[in-house]
Amino acid sequence: MSEQSESASPIVGIDLGTTNSLIAICDEAGPRVLGGVVSALVPSVVFFETDGSRVVGAEAVARGTNAPSRMVSSSKRFIGRTASEMRAFAAASGVELCEGPRGLAGFVIDGARVLPQEVSAEILGALRARAESELGVPIDRAVITVPAYFDDAQRQATRDAARLAGLRVARLVNEPTAASLAYGLGRAAQAGELVVIYDLGGGTFDCTLLEIVPKTEGLETDCFQVLATAGDTELGGDDIDRAIVDYWNRHPSGPRLADSARCLAVAARLKCALSTTAFAEESITLGGQSITLALTQSELDSIAAPFVDRTLACCRRVLRDAKVSTDAIARVVLVGGSTRLSLVRREVAKCFGQDLYLALDPDRVVALGAAIQGAILSGNRRDLLLLDVLPLSLGLETVGGATTKLLMRNTPIPARATEKFSTSMDGQTSVKLQVVQGEREFVEHCRSLGTFHLTGIPPMPAGIPQLEVVFLVDQNGVLSVRAVERRSGVTAVLQVIPSYGLTEEEASRMDSESITHAREDMRRHRVTDLCVHTKLDIKWISDALKRVRSALEASYVLDLERRLAQLSAMVSAAEADMDSVDPEAFSSLKQGLDVASIRVHECAIAHSIRGTSIG
Ligand code: ADP
Ligand code: MG
Repeated sequence: MSEQSESASPIVGIDLGTTNSLIAICDEAGPRVLGGVVSALVPSVVFFETDGSRVVGAEAVARGTNAPSRMVSSSKRFIGRTASEMRAFAAASGVELCEGPRGLAGFVIDGARVLPQEVSAEILGALRARAESELGVPIDRAVITVPAYFDDAQRQATRDAARLAGLRVARLVNEPTAASLAYGLGRAAQAGELVVIYDLGGGTFDCTLLEIVPKTEGLETDCFQVLATAGDTELGGDDIDRAIVDYWNRHPSGPRLADSARCLAVAARLKCALSTTAFAEESITLGGQSITLALTQSELDSIAAPFVDRTLACCRRVLRDAKVSTDAIARVVLVGGSTRLSLVRREVAKCFGQDLYLALDPDRVVALGAAIQGAILSGNRRDLLLLDVLPLSLGLETVGGATTKLLMRNTPIPARATEKFSTSMDGQTSVKLQVVQGEREFVEHCRSLGTFHLTGIPPMPAGIPQLEVVFLVDQNGVLSVRAVERRSGVTAVLQVIPSYGLTEEEASRMDSESITHAREDMRRHRVTDLCVHTKLDIKWISDALKRVRSALEASYVLDLERRLAQLSAMVSAAEADMDSVDPEAFSSLKQGLDVASIRVHECAIAHSIRGTSIG
């Protein structure tokens, strides 16, 4: 392969976690995590200094104690998601959100927009620098792990983050799959052995069922086939920390604690201490008053129980999907810092009816597995092969907002599927296709990955064109879609307008843009929004005015028409040149129209009620 000879530098493995990130390498000496014993775990936190420079990791956490608004943590929870999807979560965790391109969630730092991709890129950059200084060679390729449950948009956004950090992604690997590699489960296994990977970290949970096919079965390599996977991208140790603070707040005689970073940090420390003791406490000064926060093992168990129950429900779903019973499971592997909770160990062992597999450090397993995959890709290891599956079904919107699934959840990847259909109207020359991801039957419950326009179809009677859509998922779990009209042989144009993720152009633009440009983007975004809403308002108001004009006094109608004309002119000017209009002036004109149009709407409603009661 050309990729192997192209560069002599090693392919590193990166566990880009919600809470902690690690970088590892696998060379002649075997797989190992870089950064030493003490600081291998880099907190996935970035601090933005007033001079524009950025600080990553433990130092960022320290800087953030006094200026929390300049610190971003848990960017992985936001990556590839829209602002509206994340609004409730952001409000609960005190994060100031804004909208990026196509509604993507962005953070507001110092009045400027920072996308989660940029935050993750800082973390990747810091890990890369660490590896370069420790190994003494330049690093430009990496295997990066993602939760098995990440959808296409989240995977794409992770790739964008790597690109911003100057890293080429040799492969995106699911975290549980990486863990199975680190355990070298293939070599010790019997043919067809089934393994469950239970990964509970700071922000995400995954449960994955793998089948091991060792190389004795006539294969050249060991093979890890993912049979089923399920998870929750909003479930982890962070949630338990918040629940501990809530618990203290419910105590009638206790002090009122804010959901502040400091209280959460105390909760996290006591929670971790309880892995080895039955009681833990810590004193802090709040509002000049010294208070002692304490937690017992049994209190922690009851606080964590609902979260652990949710993880077990996911595990049962995985077994159901794969039609496998617990006695068929040969091993259960625990991964992620939160699996140190004694309740997790007890309940998972009980759920699967067996002892757990705990030989490796649950914090490092995923990074080690990623490094092993890196070694395989660079040609250093030939004894292992990975097979993965699709985490969520992929399909198309059909008539009436229903969906057709082309590729089902848990299909092994790479995968390909084709769907044939035709036009519904005579002379139709274009078709709009919406690609959706999810298990539900209706589009509104699934996630839209993008809208595709197949244009240039020669006019034919309805039902005659032979349209074909091909879905292709590569080994990274990234989707590409192609549409063709077969009968005419005309190469129809497929325009891809992704609803999520960054386009090639946007990612490279972001690369060179400073934070000042982000402000400019925000201004333009606002003007675009105003245009869209104003055009709709103008249409509604004009329609209503047409119907009830005679019932309104002439001076009011005249004033309303003047406002409508002013705003139409403003929209035209903005559409001709985005920068020529002042968003403040635009917004206040629109507010004027909003207020002035109340009467015409009221009148139109009264009119239509009268209309129906008479008719
Ligand atoms: P992620 O994969 O999301 O980055 P990690 O696997 O690094 O997360 O796990 C971090 C989480 O593990 C944090 O919520 C942390 O509080 C929790 N954690 C770490 N050690 C312990 C422990 N001894 N007991 C309970 N939770 C722990
Ligand atoms: Mg993890």
